[in-house]
Amino acid sequence: MREIDVIVLGSGISGCATSAYLSQKGFKVAMISRDAGTAYHLPESWIYNSSCNMGNPKVGERLLSALKKNSSCVFCSASGQQTIEIKVKSSSNEVEYGDLVHVDRNLFDQVLLEAALDSGVEFFPKSIIKSCELSSISVNISYDSQSCSYELVAPIIVDATGKTAYLSQHLELPVEEQKLDQRIALFSHFELPSEVIHEMRIIAIEGGYLFSIPLSKNRISIGCVLAENSLDPSAPSDKLFSNTIALSSYLTNMLEGAKRVLPIIPAKNYRRVCVEPAGSCYRLVGDAAAFLDPFFSPGIDFAFFSAEQAAASIVQNTPESYTKAIQNWLKNQQSSVYQNIEKSLWNDILKLFADPHLPLQIPLMLTQAFTSVVRDGCSYSNGIQVARGAYATAVH
Ligand SMILES: Cc1cc2nc3c(=O)[nH]c(=O)nc-3n(C[C@H](O)[C@H](O)[C@H](O)COP(=O)(O)OP(=O)(O)OC[C@H]3O[C@@H](n4cnc5c(N)ncnc54)[C@H](O)[C@@H]3O)c2cc1C
Repeated sequence: MREIDVIVLGSGISGCATSAYLSQKGFKVAMISRDAGTAYHLPESWIYNSSCNMGNPKVGERLLSALKKNSSCVFCSASGQQTIEIKVKSSSNEVEYGDLVHVDRNLFDQVLLEAALDSGVEFFPKSIIKSCELSSISVNISYDSQSCSYELVAPIIVDATGKTAYLSQHLELPVEEQKLDQRIALFSHFELPSEVIHEMRIIAIEGGYLFSIPLSKNRISIGCVLAENSLDPSAPSDKLFSNTIALSSYLTNMLEGAKRVLPIIPAKNYRRVCVEPAGSCYRLVGDAAAFLDPFFSPGIDFAFFSAEQAAASIVQNTPESYTKAIQNWLKNQQSSVYQNIEKSLWNDILKLFADPHLPLQIPLMLTQAFTSVVRDGCSYSNGIQVARGAYATAVH
């Protein structure tokens, strides 16, 4: 059994950032992840925060290459006939501090992984954890990585496994969970024989909609969002998914000759907060600590914030300060985002799009469409009507 200073589970944003911060402070860090490095993610939206360069201006420069200011989404009927296209365009392509940007998560996560490795983190990809035992003073973990078995012992472990929340499940830590919306999404990834068209599409169907979101040159995420009560709970997901996709001739044509590369994954829109994100031998970071909502909560910001705080609390050996910092962040976040939305004129529009598998980009595009109407001299209520009309034309 080998001794190390910190074990980090997961190599997403929060895992890479925590590992890099600690490694820069001279800790020996082993980062263990079940994927090969980075996993495929949807493009996401983010208020660019230049302090997220993990203390290295070169990392900041490389992160910029994964950020874009322009994007578009096409809302259409089942046959693919275009009904409305919303473009978010900006006069300059230069990304500046505070800009709302479109994040190419595949590239973004790759840069963060490289930054962690450059700062000396030892990385174990494709790992399967076999056992994990915590006492009040140390953690023992055994796992297989790329056909080799390993055992590590460390004074502390960081759980950055995202919504899998490996450690809190394993330790049965108390969580607060709340379902946010009655709809359910089913999605999968496909590899197309030809190059993917680089636009997001929302396709209207009876009782819900389908979406296609490009992930890379040949890979695309396809899914459907349906009312939960319109689903037959006994029907297999695969059947339901293929029957729903078959409603759109546009998607059926697109998927001809395509290979499905993931199982059909069901997703619900829920909030999950672990009320004990720190203990003498562990810290939970990113989605493993708290997942508020894929839309209204800046998960990228929280991943960076929690990573920085967890690293500081490990350096100072102060688990209580970490718990406090997380509680304050969540309190501020919930009051600033949810309450404002509740009060705002956007309530109805945003609720229409509060689905578990769409990037924040889409409600933001509607917001953009709305603001441009308002900017052209219409009243707020006219703006809302225009945005509602656009959605209704596309989806109903
Ligand atoms: C549909 C959707 C849209 C979103 N849109 C936005 C947005 O627009 N803006 C925004 O700011 N946020 C958005 N988010 C939230 C954001 O994606 C997450 O908050 C962020 O990815 C969390 O990073 P993380 O490092 O905590 O977890 P992840 O990025 O999920 O990384 C988890 C890591 O843990 C590894 N892992 C998992 N289980 C194990 C295990 N058992 N053993 C070892 N390794 C394991 C995985 O392989 C992966 O490397 C969205 C989320 C969803 C679902």
